[in-house]
Amino acid sequence: MARGKVYLVGAGPGDPELMTLKAKRLLGQADVVLFDRLLDPRMLDGVKAELIDVGKNAGRHKLNQEGINQLLIDKAEAGNIVVRLKGGDPYLFGRGGEEALALQEKGILFEVVPGVTSSIAAPELAGIPVTHRGVASSLVIVTGHEEPGKEAPLDWKAIAALGGTLVVLMGVSRLEQNVAALIEAGKSPQTPAAMVEKGGWPQQRMISATLADIAKKAKEARIESPAILVVGEVVLLAHKLGKKKIAILRPAAQQKESAALAESYGFSPISAPAIALAKKPLPDDLLARLRKAECVAFTSANGVNMALNRPDLRETLAEKMIVAIGPKTAQALAVQGLKATVPEEYSSEGMEKMLRGKCRSILFLRSAQGSQYLSEGLKASRLDVDDIALYEVVPSGDPLLDELIKSANSVDIFAFTSSTTARFLIERAGAMGLEKQLRLALAAGTVAAIGKPTAEELARQGVEVDIMPENFTFEAMLAVLRELA
Ligand code: SAH
Repeated sequence: MARGKVYLVGAGPGDPELMTLKAKRLLGQADVVLFDRLLDPRMLDGVKAELIDVGKNAGRHKLNQEGINQLLIDKAEAGNIVVRLKGGDPYLFGRGGEEALALQEKGILFEVVPGVTSSIAAPELAGIPVTHRGVASSLVIVTGHEEPGKEAPLDWKAIAALGGTLVVLMGVSRLEQNVAALIEAGKSPQTPAAMVEKGGWPQQRMISATLADIAKKAKEARIESPAILVVGEVVLLAHKLGKKKIAILRPAAQQKESAALAESYGFSPISAPAIALAKKPLPDDLLARLRKAECVAFTSANGVNMALNRPDLRETLAEKMIVAIGPKTAQALAVQGLKATVPEEYSSEGMEKMLRGKCRSILFLRSAQGSQYLSEGLKASRLDVDDIALYEVVPSGDPLLDELIKSANSVDIFAFTSSTTARFLIERAGAMGLEKQLRLALAAGTVAAIGKPTAEELARQGVEVDIMPENFTFEAMLAVLRELA
């Protein structure tokens, strides 16, 4: 049998795209992969090896370091290619060195593969360069969770005296004691400090304060491991370099596309579907009403897709003049091979102007909660208006929304893309007993409304709207937010 080999591989801080090419290649070649619980499961997508989670309590007891070393040895001696995947870089507070020594002692071939360390990447992804010309020219990385009796205790006096940037790993459980020790050792209580939680993960959060206040603030925000404490003037750069976090409240099916768009505008998206779409039973006379109308109007891409789920409608639709309220709706129609006209201005006047002389009767196919604003205006101008609800907007019940509500104070921008996103977000926070916190977060952050009905609903809910784009599209909203940033 071929000899086995162990690769001690750095996995980076959590985002699978921050793994090295070599790490990715070795995962593809491995027979066995040992990993720790904190790993993002997407890193192991498509990996065919035997996967062993050594961070798990596997029913009995968690494997200790000796147990892990022994497992590496056993698997390698059985002739396997073993990847020992470790968070960040394997040799920085990862006990990679110990595993390497244990392997060497048994004469087992091993190789270490460096990784992107969270000690630099987590602050960086939160907008903090660990060194910066004229601000900090040194970086000290320490552990905040010393094993009593294992190592020489940290010399906080020397650390405090050094200036530059201090990064404390494993810093959550003893945060209060460590900060107290630093101040006691002479570090100014006014020094800027930050905690970066889950750097590079979708749920990344950062809080900042003075050194004196950081522990209290971290407790209030319920910062949990893995998180890093950063101390030093460089923390202030995050105001300029940090990405703004934008909460996207659209239905789950639209999250991916919206998040990618938000990222392309330089924001860090948080997926939090507040609404979901529930199909409504359609009226029996739908086809007859459709035939009767000269024009048909769609007010969302969702409406288009639901209507065209019924193949019998397509033919009749193709004979009508079709109005789409905006470019996204028109695009959804185009994908289905239907051409639509888009009014220049999103208003009943704009629509009326467009329809004048072209049709006298119009059928709206849209959501049950669609604003009556357009149809009322059109009725007033003597158009024959019919309205059929294709779907209903309902609360999403999505756990991601609950997560957002719990950490609402770390959100910079709330993107309201319909009046229902506003209503159901606030209702859900109320049901969780967190409405007051949410309202504080809304007041502190930027509130963006996609259009008038949404802005009006927010006003009704007592929420002040900060921006509304001239064009009522999500992208136009991002463009305005970008200018503000
Ligand atoms: N070898 C790892 C560090 C292991 S020690 C590396 O190079 O990154 C584990 C500590 O790393 C955690 O307690 C936490 O302080 C930090 N850490 C790891 N991943 C993190 C992340 N994504 N965001 C913030 N801190 C992280």
